[in-house]
Amino acid sequence: MTAAVTTWTDLDGWATGLDEGPVDLPAAERAVADLLRALGQDGPGLAGTPGRVARAYAELLAPAPFEATTFANHEGYDELVVLKDIPFASLCEHHLLPFSGRAHLAYLPGDRLLGLSKLARAVGHFASRLQMQERLTTQIARWLGDTLEPRGVGVMVEAEHGCMTLRGTRSGGARTVTSCLTGLLGTDGPYRAQFQATVGAR
Ligand code: ZN
Repeated sequence: MTAAVTTWTDLDGWATGLDEGPVDLPAAERAVADLLRALGQDGPGLAGTPGRVARAYAELLAPAPFEATTFANHEGYDELVVLKDIPFASLCEHHLLPFSGRAHLAYLPGDRLLGLSKLARAVGHFASRLQMQERLTTQIARWLGDTLEPRGVGVMVEAEHGCMTLRGTRSGGARTVTSCLTGLLGTDGPYRAQFQATVGAR
């Protein structure tokens, strides 16, 4: 039934992620206290800050495990499935500052369909680690491809980066848009056009 072959050549070379070791909260707390001191920050209001910061970062860097529930495509649904405007927040690995925005996911089914909530869960899962927006985009696309072996995958991510809006160029409102399109969405054609029209460049 699945006529088109999805190749992942374009994704080769992308690291699957950083090494994640166990979290040592007391050590993180001490390190935050050191950081505050080194930055010349002191005061009674900061008493509980190192502990809170350590716990907040630990939470932001803890990907929730999830099972991908797939279903046989009995009815032979063969048009795009799109879930758009999935909100997410992540941490940029270059500055440890947040970047947040929305992800749009689409796939062109082959023999399997995916529970819709799993699309949103996948975004949260891959966002809960130190990231680059480019890698987040391709990781989600690769996961969709590996899980479903669909005829095509489209992922578009748009986000504002704290490292741009809060410091440096202070370009508030500037959004970075990344996309990863594979299979029948990777080539010019009706599905690619439909994906782009659906998620819309706004
Ligand atoms: Zn950054």
